[in-house]
Amino acid sequence: MEVIMLTCPTCGARVEVTQDIDRFACLHCGNEMLVIRRGGTASLRPVLEQVRDGAVRTASELAIKRLDDEVRELMKQRSPLAAAADDSAGILWALMGGIAAVVGVLIYVQDHDLLCCAAPIVIVGIALVALLPNLRSRAADAEPKLQRLDALIDKKQHELRSHKETVELDETQ
Ligand SMILES: [Zn+2]
Repeated sequence: MEVIMLTCPTCGARVEVTQDIDRFACLHCGNEMLVIRRGGTASLRPVLEQVRDGAVRTASELAIKRLDDEVRELMKQRSPLAAAADDSAGILWALMGGIAAVVGVLIYVQDHDLLCCAAPIVIVGIALVALLPNLRSRAADAEPKLQRLDALIDKKQHELRSHKETVELDETQ
């Protein structure tokens, strides 16, 4: 039977392999090897390493699925928070309320008989202005939460990218 001499890829020892063997453990380091035959040449490949690569890839694939779900969930939490943190609409309403209140007062000054329609305009105007501190404190409350959420989303997306790279790298090998 033909015997070929090969070098153990793990410990570098010379090993003899007969033609009928596809898998064996190195006598020197004990690592399991696969005999890869291609054409007239043969080479050794550690079995453990293959299993480990496969395990890393599977872990990355699982992580990608988990992170995808987590990012989607965080995005759902983000939209109402972002809306609360943005108080520009509130400022616009308060501005219009202020103008309405002034207009109401002017109407009353021009003609005291128009109190019946001037008064509601002033009241609604003041009510709109009064809402502003409320909206602003809600926005001030939401702002740091939004920043924390954004930082978390950023971190998850970064992890996601690195796992995707791991899988892609594995596919090109
Ligand atoms: Zn060895």
